[in-house]
Amino acid sequence: MPDSIEIQDIISAQQRLPGYIRKTAVNQSSELSRLANIPVYLKLEHQQITNSFKIRGASNAMLQLTDEQKSAGIVCVSSGNHGRGVAFAANQLGIAAKVFMSPFVPENKVNGIRDLGAEVVITGNNADEAELAALNYIDQTQATYLPPFDHKQIICGQGTLGLEIIEQIPDLENVVVPLSGGGLISGIAIAIKSLKPKIKLYGISMEKGPAMIDSIKAGAIVEVNEEPTFADSLAGGIHPDNHYTFNIVRKLVDQTAVVSEAEIAAAIRHAYLHERQIIEGGASVGIAAILADKLALTGPTVVVLSGGNINMDIHQAILNGADNLSEIKS
Ligand SMILES: *Cc1c(COP(=O)(O)O)cnc(C)c1O
Repeated sequence: MPDSIEIQDIISAQQRLPGYIRKTAVNQSSELSRLANIPVYLKLEHQQITNSFKIRGASNAMLQLTDEQKSAGIVCVSSGNHGRGVAFAANQLGIAAKVFMSPFVPENKVNGIRDLGAEVVITGNNADEAELAALNYIDQTQATYLPPFDHKQIICGQGTLGLEIIEQIPDLENVVVPLSGGGLISGIAIAIKSLKPKIKLYGISMEKGPAMIDSIKAGAIVEVNEEPTFADSLAGGIHPDNHYTFNIVRKLVDQTAVVSEAEIAAAIRHAYLHERQIIEGGASVGIAAILADKLALTGPTVVVLSGGNINMDIHQAILNGADNLSEIKS
């Protein structure tokens, strides 16, 4: 049985994190408020250090390692925002980080993580084989493995975003959150449902491979087909021996919805043209759901913009009207 996660664990994370993360701002969106006819706020978490919330969980987990664990180093498998968060946090804390990835990861992503101070280990023929290599390395050393979402301290770190939101917007009624493995929404849900149980939580994924939403519908964790999507930071499956997020999301999230590639593209354009924000596809799904009127919201609503790490050529192509990855060169 995994440890349960309590509000006090998230409050402790919030007390642990100052100096390692920044408290991101909230802006009211006049355009979305007008369109949806309710006050809509944007939580600008794409302006977090490393441009995503993942540093909250990574820092919270690493700050609780023993000195012995710190000197043995940290390992993760991620070419995306989790890898960036782990690399930066480890560097801050003087911990050696190894980030495992397959040879197919684009060079700019590899260099991005290297530049944050981690050692990149290129191995295997795909992401699954890179993960096996990482787990094999853990078995042979004393290093600590940090998974991207199904981990108590990671969830508590992400939950600090939920505490911030309720401090920042006193009359809040709805929270709209991008949903992949569910670490972010689980942390936010425990924070919010513990302190303000009337607030409703909405989890949004992309149509192409919504692993958690499909699993909730099936009543058990199911495999999804991974397809190319603008929301690459939401892609990927959920391990069948999930300990935390599946049950937390099932229990605490009020409603889920999926958005199409064209809706994601429209949301990225909206964020740029009306909000002056550069956000990645995975971060745009909340705006996409509101623009496409998928949630029937009433009352003050906050939309979490979870990250800003988008390839700028793809961003440009979307601004120029691309509605699908296949319309963009390769
Ligand atoms: C990781 C990530 C998510 C999804 O978080 P989960 O905890 O896996 O649900 C959403 N947006 C961005 C930008 C991310 O990097």
